[in-house]
Amino acid sequence: MPLIDELRKAIAPEMREGVPLAPFTTFRIGGPAEYYFEAKTDEEAVRAIAACRDLGLPYHVLGGGSNLLVSDDGIRGLTIRMVNSSVSVDGPVVTAGAGTPSGRLARETAEAGLSGLEWMIGLPGTVGGAIRGNAGMFGSEVKDSLESVSVLTPGGEARIMENRDCLFGYRDSAFKRLPGTVILSAKFRLTIGEAEACRKKMRGFLEKKTTAQPVSGLTAGCAFKNWLPKNEGEIVIVREGLGLAPEEAVPRTPTGAVPTGWIIDRAQLKGMRIGGGFVSEKHGNFIVNDGTGTASDVIALTAAVRMRVRDMTHGIILLEDEIEYVGF
Ligand SMILES: Cc1cc2nc3c(=O)[nH]c(=O)nc-3n(C[C@H](O)[C@H](O)[C@H](O)COP(=O)(O)OP(=O)(O)OC[C@H]3O[C@@H](n4cnc5c(N)ncnc54)[C@H](O)[C@@H]3O)c2cc1C
Repeated sequence: MPLIDELRKAIAPEMREGVPLAPFTTFRIGGPAEYYFEAKTDEEAVRAIAACRDLGLPYHVLGGGSNLLVSDDGIRGLTIRMVNSSVSVDGPVVTAGAGTPSGRLARETAEAGLSGLEWMIGLPGTVGGAIRGNAGMFGSEVKDSLESVSVLTPGGEARIMENRDCLFGYRDSAFKRLPGTVILSAKFRLTIGEAEACRKKMRGFLEKKTTAQPVSGLTAGCAFKNWLPKNEGEIVIVREGLGLAPEEAVPRTPTGAVPTGWIIDRAQLKGMRIGGGFVSEKHGNFIVNDGTGTASDVIALTAAVRMRVRDMTHGIILLEDEIEYVGF
């Protein structure tokens, strides 16, 4: 029996073959998924993983596609897009399906008068993707309000991971080191407050976000993580390399990191272009597709930015990817 028929039999008749992935990414870039399935429920995700295990087929999980670059050649095996979207409120505890858009979670918790996730209103993508990357904005991160996560291991075991088990760090979590583990849903513990106050916070966050970032462009958010200097000596070398005037201060985030958007700006790389990819003029850490870009353009551009920054800072700043590269 052809593999697609075996998959349809084992998972669901809606299983598709050769589906272009670009429309499911915010970059609007990427070749086809060999096989493609949208998991609307946890049970469908469980069936999909079991079928892949039985058939020896690799799989990859997709959320909102807002933090990744899919190869021009696409992804081999089964791409499972998580669309299990649900929000349920029980006192200060909120349970959300992994496929819930982060913005929906922000809105629904705010309307319930629960405070803590208002910042998520401006976050593209889904709850599952946000947990994997410990997404954050304006001083808040997923880890601050997450209680536990319900996951499925590649071996088919259902498991609850408490916040401390998730090993959250800056745009990092245990899930980055647990390939094949699928986040099914998550519980958040929020603070009981007033819906109007939550709405006001959300409006403020949205305004700040749209002013500072090219949110309407075809992009996957920040291309690189912020740079954390090891000591003041590194700052001295970087100042010299970037040619800063003596009176110009190096900005630092509350954790002591230097914003990469600022570094790229000072390295005069804003507007740099390769093919259909360019560095945003609005925010130096955003790489944008002009509509004609390919994954190869984005790869070449990120490599060029990384090398230029490394060379200008005498090898001190080695920019680390924040975007995931899939299918390469
Ligand atoms: C305009 C713009 C602004 C952004 N601003 C920010 C920001 O301020 N802060 C920030 O942190 N990020 C930001 N991002 C990046 C991105 O929106 C977040 O990282 C988002 O949380 C990713 O979620 P996603 O569902 O789109 O993940 P995807 O891009 O679909 O996937 C990312 C990774 O997570 C994995 N994954 C997704 N769902 C699951 C699941 N259920 N189980 C297991 N693994 C899963 C995927 O396999 C992939 O490896 C921005 C992006 C854009 C386009």
